[in-house]
Amino acid sequence: MAKVPPPECFLMPVVYVGKLKEKVESFNKLPLSSKKGKLWDSTDDGDMEDVKKFIKDHYKIAQNYRCPYCQQKIEVEHNGSWDAEHIIPKDTHPQFMFEPRNLCVSCKDCNLIKLNKRVLKNQKRVTFPDAADDYLFCHPHYHSYFDHVNIIEEAGFYLPKTRHGVHLVEICGLLRFVLKYADCEWDDDQICLQVQSLGDELVSTKEPEARIAIMSMMKTLLDDGIRKATYAGIKARVERFAMSAG
Ligand SMILES: [Zn+2]
Repeated sequence: MAKVPPPECFLMPVVYVGKLKEKVESFNKLPLSSKKGKLWDSTDDGDMEDVKKFIKDHYKIAQNYRCPYCQQKIEVEHNGSWDAEHIIPKDTHPQFMFEPRNLCVSCKDCNLIKLNKRVLKNQKRVTFPDAADDYLFCHPHYHSYFDHVNIIEEAGFYLPKTRHGVHLVEICGLLRFVLKYADCEWDDDQICLQVQSLGDELVSTKEPEARIAIMSMMKTLLDDGIRKATYAGIKARVERFAMSAG
């Protein structure tokens, strides 16, 4: 029978060694009912601290200091800036807690927002799901990020290109970046630049869902620009009137 090739992967998985390997293997041998996600956070288990540090040290380098969900680069050595991230949450599926392909590091905001949200098509999976299509969203190991999401950095826009990208934006709350921008006071030049970059994006985008998202963002920006120009016009008239009346 032909051997099934290993799935294509985009991230080098961690390889446990020495006493950490023994620790992981002894957990994996437990019956399912004895595997508890809270072991991860136990403070009286020195080996757990060592495993967590080993995982963070590995993925920080493997990911080139980038969050796999929002792609922010955090060039900080201190592990406190990173969260060890269980792609399938450890609270819902503790049996995958040490599975190297279920692990990565992420920024604290993405981890907190993602929390225990569902990422699997079939929540009742017993064996580890190792195919890209087993997942609802872009998986750091199994999907090539930019095939599924475009980022327009000038404006903090995450534009999904596929269903997996749409789910990633939802599950990790990536709209938080554009909301942050929405609170800023834009000047006309900034709005112009953003509309221009969205226009370039629109020209090269074929997917109907992504095109609608881009056009809606362009409309919002233009409305905002027109609104500000109108206010400025009215304000100038009122000031001129006040001066002539005074
Ligand atoms: Zn992130």
